[in-house]
Amino acid sequence: MAQVYERVALIGLGLIAGSMAHAMKRRGLAGHIAGYARSAETRAAAAQIGFVDSVHDSAAEAVAGADLVVLAVPVGAMGAVAEEIAPFLKAGVTVTDVGSVKQAVIDAVGPHLPEGVHFIPGHPLAGTEHSGPYSGFATLFENRWWLLTPVEGSDADAVARLSALCTGMGANVDTMDAPHHDLVLAVVSHTPHLIAYTMVGVADHLRRVSQTEVIKYSASGFRDFTRIAASDPTMWRDVFLTNKEATLDILGRFTEELFVLQRAIRMGDGPLLHEYFTRTRAIRRGII
Ligand code: NAD
Repeated sequence: MAQVYERVALIGLGLIAGSMAHAMKRRGLAGHIAGYARSAETRAAAAQIGFVDSVHDSAAEAVAGADLVVLAVPVGAMGAVAEEIAPFLKAGVTVTDVGSVKQAVIDAVGPHLPEGVHFIPGHPLAGTEHSGPYSGFATLFENRWWLLTPVEGSDADAVARLSALCTGMGANVDTMDAPHHDLVLAVVSHTPHLIAYTMVGVADHLRRVSQTEVIKYSASGFRDFTRIAASDPTMWRDVFLTNKEATLDILGRFTEELFVLQRAIRMGDGPLLHEYFTRTRAIRRGII
């Protein structure tokens, strides 16, 4: 596959950046991949695994001369990283991010970037419950969506080039505005994660059912909840702190519907439950 960028800098070297590096290397999409992460241990691991061509001791050093800079740190850290690298970005560089929330990243990063930098926020809808430099793999983005949320005045050529990188890594690209992205993600990802965290928390707090029993008798539904609830606490703390309104909106709808089902169970309203579950089954059939 043809090279899309001569020099790429990855800031943060965890699941998403690591997977990008593996995918770009496998498909020859980048000439040189430079990397930086805050922890020395992560930098050493990235160097040892070898998914980056050079590891740097500062973000400023990593971005020097880069054609593409990818911010792959928790959402709450994006602003500070942007401020740190801003003076060292070359003119014409594209800066993107992979954060799970978009408007908060635009608000935190945008003001720091100088004229002549193309800022194109993005979010790959791909992940696992694992994190850190050892968790990345080349096929993570294959057949997954990569959403771009260009800001006003984003350069069309720069957007097309970043899209080419994403499709080169096997993803399908869509664009939408940031507030809509945050609402969609509140529905399909953020609120479900919160529910999973809550359900596992409930099981953990029970006295009459022991933790040993919960672990031993976990069936597929609860197992899926525990997998989701094992996701990185820092990342998910930041998601809820920064996608507050949309998550609270969807959570409000969720609790309303939960009360309807709770009442139906108490009243023995079989038809309501059956009709509800029939409707939700149709959504699943639309997905697979
Ligand atoms: P991760 O924990 O695997 O990696 C985060 C990396 O950022 C680590 O290398 C860590 O050392 C580094 N880091 C943390 N704070 C930093 C700072 N202040 N300065 C420099 N480096 C710092 O996390 P991840 O899953 O790769 O997530 C990265 C981003 O991708 C997050 O914004 C997250 O919202 C987004 N994202 C995650 C998933 C997922 O399922 N995990 C999916 C899509 C998008």
